[in-house]
Formats: sequence, structure tokens, C-alpha cells
Amino acid sequence: MADADEAQAAFHARQIRRTIALAYQGFRSGKGRPFGALVVRDGEVVAEAHNEVLALCDPTAHSEVLAIRRAASALGTRDLSDCDLYVIGLPCPMCYSAATWARIRKVYYASTPADLAELTGIDDARLYADLASAAPARTQLPTEQVEATLAEANACYREWGELKRQNKVL
Ligand SMILES: [Zn+2]
Repeated sequence: MADADEAQAAFHARQIRRTIALAYQGFRSGKGRPFGALVVRDGEVVAEAHNEVLALCDPTAHSEVLAIRRAASALGTRDLSDCDLYVIGLPCPMCYSAATWARIRKVYYASTPADLAELTGIDDARLYADLASAAPARTQLPTEQVEATLAEANACYREWGELKRQNKVL
């Protein structure tokens, strides 16, 4: 490896090790499960978090979501397209989606969902598989369209869509 590549690899490993330290911190303090995340921009950590689902009584308080929220708040933007996300393991579908909405440039991870399932019993595979099927066939969460209100719902979308086309909303 060239020196620059080695330096990059060492940088990535250092960030991942920090997410592992955060994961230990999170579960040893009883605040959450063993997950940690960093948002990094231009080689600097913008925000970090460990899982806090227990401390906050918040099922969405995954480390990635918390780190993304903190980074966006610190930078004053919802667009994190110049930021990378470092995590102990490949994100769950919610966090993958959150990173996508935040326009995170790239996710660096160490552990795989298979490792997670084997070592902890926390299994993202069912959710990933469920999301891969068409909405009506999904089994993890029942959904039902209330068609009587479809026109009203779409009127709301239509009004916003028209304002957006006129650059009157963000
Ligand atoms: Zn997650």
C-alpha cells in the first residue's frame, strides 16, 4: 500500500475504534445496546453517539440517528453530503434510511449483520428481507390504506409540490 492509502486505512480504523469504545460505554452505563457512531467531515469528528434506547425510552435512539441529528444541528444543515458515517456494524434499515435522507457520503463499518445476529441475537435480517418485498406483502408491520381520505392527503401533497416547483418552500 502507498503511504496515503495506509494513512487512510489507519484513519478509518481509528474512527471505527472510537465507535467501538462508544458501544462499550453505551451498554456498560445501561443506556443502550452495543452500538456507536461518528459523523466525520474533512477528517474531523462533527458528532458522536452511542445507542440510548434505554436511557431515553426511545426505540429510535440508535447511535446513527443520534449522531446524524447532532451533526446536522452542529453544522446547521440537514444536508450532510460532505460527511461520512462511521459505525461499529452495518446500520439497520432505519439508520441506513436516516443516513440516506441526510445524504451521508459513505458509511464505514466493521461488523456485519450476520455477526450481530450470531453474537447478540439482534437480527436485522428479517427487517431487511421484509423491506425487499412489495409493501402489501410485508409481514413485520401491518399497513392499511384508508382510501376515503386519499384525495385529501394527496391535496396536501399537491399543494406542497406546487410550492416546491415555484421554489417557495424548502
Ligand atoms: Zn439503527
